[in-house]
Amino acid sequence: MRLNPHLAAMPGGYLFGEIARRVQAYEPAAPRPIIRLGIGDVTQPLAPAITQALVDAAREMGTPEGFHGYPPDQGYAFLRRAIIDADYAPLGVGLELDEVFITDGAKTDTSALPELLAADARVAVTDPVYPAYVDANAMAGRLGHYEKGAWSRLVTLPCHADNAFVPELPRERVDLLYLCYPNNPTGTVLTQAQLARFVAYALETDTLILFDAAYKAYITDPAIPRSIYQIPGAERVAVECCSFSKSAGFTGTRCAYTVIPKALQGRVDGRMVSLNALWARRVACRQNGVSYPVQRAAAAALSPAGQAQVAAQVQAYIDNAHAIVAALQGAGLEVFGGIHAPYVWLRIPGGQSAWDFFDHLLHRAQVVGTPGSGFGPAGEGYLRLTAFNTAERTREALARILAVL
Ligand code: PLP
Repeated sequence: MRLNPHLAAMPGGYLFGEIARRVQAYEPAAPRPIIRLGIGDVTQPLAPAITQALVDAAREMGTPEGFHGYPPDQGYAFLRRAIIDADYAPLGVGLELDEVFITDGAKTDTSALPELLAADARVAVTDPVYPAYVDANAMAGRLGHYEKGAWSRLVTLPCHADNAFVPELPRERVDLLYLCYPNNPTGTVLTQAQLARFVAYALETDTLILFDAAYKAYITDPAIPRSIYQIPGAERVAVECCSFSKSAGFTGTRCAYTVIPKALQGRVDGRMVSLNALWARRVACRQNGVSYPVQRAAAAALSPAGQAQVAAQVQAYIDNAHAIVAALQGAGLEVFGGIHAPYVWLRIPGGQSAWDFFDHLLHRAQVVGTPGSGFGPAGEGYLRLTAFNTAERTREALARILAVL
């Protein structure tokens, strides 16, 4: 059999696989329990309004009149309506029901959406970046060959302290630009004017922006855009991916959504085609959606009671992030992010490499972070800490880190 050469050419394992391997190898010898501030997984249990909806929907499924088979391709209308009313109407963004697609994860859709484009489309990402964007395009053969730590056809936009983590516009023509704000891994955000610059660029150059807003629940300043559609004209150039994972604790429950405005059009053989129609066609043939109980649970997260409960959970993570920033800054470290995001990006003191500093914290402090170089070459010299652990363990981890600096 002939296998996918692009998949076979992928470097190493997925970043978090390597971290898990190192932690597992060390754990039996660790003098005290390890505290994990590495992977971006939530720790609080599902909120009461959500579990109630899951239980009620499961019961309903066990009755003849309440049974639900395959869900509608784009998701149930009750959930799409709740998303439009709760997440977009308050921002002054009007959407129609068929512009929202329910999916099992933002990882799934941010990886799959490039299928809308030509097979040889040019892709641009920020560096550092959430690795799934790069991996998905690499295995689809869009990134060329991998040599000396870089993909030959991938356009990267370095983000570092000197440009305040705001990427430059791509210098060469690209078809697809991934933007993720609040950013994973740096925890930084874009102002309205900075995001508007990207939208203007995309309109001018006929570029599709894939805007990943998985962390929008962490924005506490109303002046910072929560949706790219708050920028006029974005509906003609941008797809937006959102998730219940980090806002409502759905990392294990699985529900997310993608917005594809009907105003968004691209060219096929010189004729204009709607991306919304193409994606609807693709969804219909590739997936059978998210289960009824989970869609009910997601809608419950958007109910008034659910919104209050999940806001309290998000606030607890934000408090952790602020505590991490304050403690590290107090120790004289240079830190970024962590204000409107659950991630803190710290500059490693003393010129150690990211993996060396990761090992140092693991072996000396029994704390797990994520080495910045795992998110791209521009992440070398940085370490990411997440705010998703409990307040108590976060405090303990900080005390341990400060003791070994
Ligand atoms: N997008 C970004 C930027 C993420 O950091 C993550 C998870 O860490 C995801 C998407 C995945 O979201 P989901 O759980 O909805 O697949």
